[in-house]
Formats: sequence, C-alpha cells, structure tokens
Amino acid sequence: MRSVRAVTVTPGVPDSLRLVEDWPEPPPEEGAILVEALAVGVCGTDYEIVAGEYGEAPPGQERLVLGHESLGRVLEDPTGTLQTGDLVAGVVRHPDPVPCANCAVDEWDMCRNGRYTEHGIKGLPGFARERWRLQPKFAVGLDPALASVGVLLEPTSVVAKAWDHIERIGRRAEWKPMTVLVTGAGPIGLLAALLGSQRGLSVHVLDRNTTGPKPELVRALGATYHTATVPELDVKPDVVIECTGAPTVVLDAMCKAAPTGIVCLTGVSSGGRTINFDAGALNRELVLENNVVFGSVNAGRRHWEMAAEALAQADRSWLTSLITRRVPLPNYREAYAPAGEDIKAVLDFTQ
Ligand SMILES: [Zn+2]
Repeated sequence: MRSVRAVTVTPGVPDSLRLVEDWPEPPPEEGAILVEALAVGVCGTDYEIVAGEYGEAPPGQERLVLGHESLGRVLEDPTGTLQTGDLVAGVVRHPDPVPCANCAVDEWDMCRNGRYTEHGIKGLPGFARERWRLQPKFAVGLDPALASVGVLLEPTSVVAKAWDHIERIGRRAEWKPMTVLVTGAGPIGLLAALLGSQRGLSVHVLDRNTTGPKPELVRALGATYHTATVPELDVKPDVVIECTGAPTVVLDAMCKAAPTGIVCLTGVSSGGRTINFDAGALNRELVLENNVVFGSVNAGRRHWEMAAEALAQADRSWLTSLITRRVPLPNYREAYAPAGEDIKAVLDFTQ
C-alpha cells in the first residue's frame, strides 16, 4: 500500500513533533479531489500545538497531522470542480455536526457551539503531508500565477473576513472611510494593510520593529509605518484592525477610532494579565461617537474567494517578500522553530 510523509504531533504532548515516513495515503472518504502538496505555512497556532498547549487529534487517533495553511496542485478531480494541475487550497474549518444556525448555512466561521472541526488543529488531519483530499465545497482554486505565494491564501482569508464584516457594519449608516490603522505588522497585519491599500484607503501600520523587512514592506504599499505608541499617533482612523492581541495595544486601539469608527480585533490574547484601565471613559467614547468594536476569527467560503481575488491582484514580488523562509520537508523542525525577523515561514514540499 502507498503511503505519504506527514508532519505530525501527539496533541497535548510537548516535543512530540515528528515526520512520519509511512503515514496512510488519504482515504477517498476525505473527499473526491486528490491534491499533491506544494507548501504549508506555519503560524502561531502551530507553535502552540507543537508546544502541547493546543490541538486535538481526529477521533480514535493518537496523532494529528499539522498544517492549516495549504497550497497544492490537483492530481485528480472526478467531480470536474477543478482541473488536473490547478492550484488549490483547502478551507480550514468544517461545520459542526449539530449543526448550529450558522453552520447550517455554511457560515462555519461564525459557529455558535464550538463543535466545528479544523484541518491540522482540531479533529481533522492537516495539510502537512505529501497528498491530501478535499470535498469540492472546501476546495478553493487559485490563479495559476500564484504558485510561489498561494500558500498565503489562508491568512489572507482571515483578513478578507475582517474587511467584509467591517464593511457590513459600516452599512448601518452613511460610510465613507478614509483612513485605516493596522496594529501589528506580522503576516495578518501586513495582509490587512494590503487589503486596505487595495480599497484606496490611507493606510497606517504600527509595529515595534525598527529593523528587518517590515518598514519597507509597509512603504511599498504606499502606507505609513509607525513605531510610536497608539496614543502618540497623529491619525484619527475610521477603521482600526488590531492584530497584536497585546492588552495595552488593544485598549489603545479601541480608544483611537474616529467618530463612527469601527475597530476589528483579530489578535488572540493569552489572558491572565491585568492592567489599570478607565472602562467608563471608553464606554463614554463608544456611545457618544457611535463606535463599534468587534472580534473576528477564521473565514467562510466567500472570504476565501475574496482572498484569492486579492492575492491575484496584488504585486507578486511584494507577496513573495512576506515568505521569509522556505524550509524543505526533511528539515521540517526548522520551520516550526520561530526565528528572529521571520514574517512567514513555509514548509516546502517541492524541494
Ligand atoms: Zn456551528
């Protein structure tokens, strides 16, 4: 019987990261579309899973295949949804089995009961294996020109949802945003800034780093890079997209929005840290300025398609610069160890 190489962990067990040489070939029950892996992106969630702090193997299994940021090439699709050779990425989240009101209409990103499953994270095998399968509903085709950068589709889907929900909230009244502030210039922050610039907005990005590639990447978007604190910025943003999860930055971001401003929180804080904060002043400002603060996570099908469109329109060399390391599969451990000025590390299945 054929097998694939797969990067796996035993969830909950630190240092259990291992390349399994003879992982089972993906069974047809996983989906009709058979895909050959090209690349898998690594993010903070992967670090947490590798550290044993997060993650859940599929029912009845001990090990979880990692990888939720995928890019592959279609080997066969008997459903005719995609053609052999097409670039494809897999939607991360699947609806819960109940299903809840949102999952019932395939808005799995808005699941209400938490019983959804996620490839490479929660109850479904990930994409860090040489071949995987998809059902057509969870397969997103990409422009053929995106072979070297299409692995950015998953993080782009997250910011496409953030922008989609910002714009839906904006429609509660007349809405002509001019300025967006993005806090944090990691992959999510930079991609949020990209989508802001594609909307013709004046984009400001705040980050602590004064060196490395981030300042230049922001300037290349025609955006302004800041290293001051949020209160020090001479900007009144109509939109704030918070991507750090750092408690002080989150609170400062909530206070920074212009009247009728919308603040989207995307960073997950670890919790347990308390800071002194005037909740009454924040409440007063939100009420008197009609501001909205909301959280956003994951992405639905339409957001994946919006993200594929945004990547196709973006400057290819700018996107390439976001991928600061490409690690061949045999050296997989290097991809799962954070390195200094990384923006995005990618596990490369083609070398
Ligand atoms: Zn649900």
